[in-house]
Amino acid sequence: MSDNKYMGLTRGGTPWEPSFVSDVDGAKCIGCGRCYKVCPRDVFDLVEREVDEDDDMYDDYEDDVMMVMTVSNADDCIGCSACAAVCPKDCHTHTPASALA
Ligand code: SF4
Ligand code: SF4
Repeated sequence: MSDNKYMGLTRGGTPWEPSFVSDVDGAKCIGCGRCYKVCPRDVFDLVEREVDEDDDMYDDYEDDVMMVMTVSNADDCIGCSACAAVCPKDCHTHTPASALA
C-alpha cells in the first residue's frame, strides 16, 4: 500500500496515479475552450491576454487582446489529465501525485 495519500485504484484494483494540472501556457493557448469543457471540476477560467507585434497571434487579433485559459482553482483538480488529452496546443503542465508525496 502506497503512503502517498493522492494515489488511487482503478475499479479493477490496479494502482492509478493522478497527475494534477499546475499550469497552462498562455503563450501557446488559443482559447478554444476544449479543456474547460472536458474538465469535470472547477479548475479553469478564461482571462484576457495582450497580444503585441512580436506575438505569433498578432495578425489574428486586431484589438490586441485575446482570451486564454488559466488555472484559477488548482486545488479542485482530481488529476484525470483529460484537459491535456484534448488540448490541440499541448499547453498544460501536470504534476504527478508521486511528486507531491
Ligand atoms: S486534470 Fe482533470 S480535473 Fe484536473 S484540470 Fe485537467 S481535466 Fe480538470
Ligand atoms: S484546450 Fe489548450 S488551447 Fe484550448 S483553451 Fe485549453 S489550454 Fe487553450
